[in-house]
Amino acid sequence: MDFKLTEEQELLKKNVGDFARQELAPMVQEVDEKGGFSWDVWWKLASVGIQGLSGPEEYGGAGVTSLLTQVMVIEELARYDFSSAANIVSNWAMIRKLNDDGSEEHKKRYLEPLCNGEIVGSFAQTEPNSGSDVASLSTTARLEDGYYVLNGEKCFVTQAGEAEFTFVVARTGTKTGRNAISTFLVEKDREGYILGEKESKLGYRGSTTRTLALVDCKVPASNMMGEEGKGLNTALKGLASGRLLTAAQALGQTQAALDASIQYAKERVQFGRNIGSFQLIQGMLADMAIDLESARLLTYYACWLRDNDRPFAIYSSMAKTLATDVAMKAGVDAVQIYGGYGFMRDYPVESIMRNVKITQIYEGTNQIQRLIIARELLGDKRSFRELYGQK
Ligand SMILES: Cc1cc2nc3c(=O)[nH]c(=O)nc-3n(C[C@H](O)[C@H](O)[C@H](O)COP(=O)(O)OP(=O)(O)OC[C@H]3O[C@@H](n4cnc5c(N)ncnc54)[C@H](O)[C@@H]3O)c2cc1C
Repeated sequence: MDFKLTEEQELLKKNVGDFARQELAPMVQEVDEKGGFSWDVWWKLASVGIQGLSGPEEYGGAGVTSLLTQVMVIEELARYDFSSAANIVSNWAMIRKLNDDGSEEHKKRYLEPLCNGEIVGSFAQTEPNSGSDVASLSTTARLEDGYYVLNGEKCFVTQAGEAEFTFVVARTGTKTGRNAISTFLVEKDREGYILGEKESKLGYRGSTTRTLALVDCKVPASNMMGEEGKGLNTALKGLASGRLLTAAQALGQTQAALDASIQYAKERVQFGRNIGSFQLIQGMLADMAIDLESARLLTYYACWLRDNDRPFAIYSSMAKTLATDVAMKAGVDAVQIYGGYGFMRDYPVESIMRNVKITQIYEGTNQIQRLIIARELLGDKRSFRELYGQK
């Protein structure tokens, strides 16, 4: 066993942490109050090349393929600016999808600007009646004279309205279930690509979230990503890695909760003593630290497995669940340690509680993660739809 980070990882972690603390942290509150994606913040991130960190070198990326390194970068960003960390994870997912399944033309057009932060993309899988039950989605794509015609409604599309294109997951053919689903790249200026109003959110407010309606929206057949009917695989590919990047967002915020709680426990005086001298406060601090280190170790272990080509999906689900549950508890406890001040927007902990809630919901809710883990433990190979009665 070797827990030592490489010199490169140590340096990157330090540099990203310094950058996020000095350049991003001062902008966080304003972005949170205003709500919506901030291009100013995005360009700051671009000035140090974070958008392209995981991207292929031939398209201007830095080619960092180690998931452990990527996780450490996201953790450091999330420690100071949750929304930027989550937005970068989303950008890396766009780059990965395009690189794996995009046509040569799309790669040439979009990869470089995605890597250098000139544009963003978005991903539309969720529908009003299809969330965790992905295979029930009802958006259709009908082939007509060399074009696919898309119809349907998507919701919770992150960066919709800012994005140059959207990966739309839709049903091709007449079969039900997961084998008739395909993914398409839909450019924002296509006719019938109709955006809804910006949603107002509890947390992760430095992103834009909207619905997207597709009304007879035509795209060339070459806009299909990957093979026809395998779209769910295309959409879900990379999810196990993505979940570890979600764990990283939660770890960064838990670290922030712990840092702020320690500082406040040393400063705040009640009954003539620092509140840090009270054992009930000490218990919360100690639990937060234990939870953080456990979740971090499991996350890094899952990354190590993936980086060494070993099966890691179950560990990824475990790490995502643990890290995000731990972050939620840390956010709530940090507010408790701050007392009434913790409830105020001028103090740094209430936003942690609001932000990390999303990490228990997206990239597969924590209930779904527990089902994945249990199914694996029980050796059950059936899909969720088979398990719950709908074939
Ligand atoms: C801020 C934000 C950004 C998002 N960004 C995107 C995006 O960019 N693109 C995109 O496609 N989607 C996006 N999503 C959607 C997100 O992935 C879904 O919200 C998530 O998958 C859950 O789906 P749902 O909201 O429909 O909840 P549901 O699936 O309706 O679940 C409701 C509750 O029931 C539980 N549940 C469901 N099935 C089971 C089961 N079998 N057993 C036990 N419990 C179960 C869930 O865990 C949850 O607690 C985003 C959501 C948010 C809030």
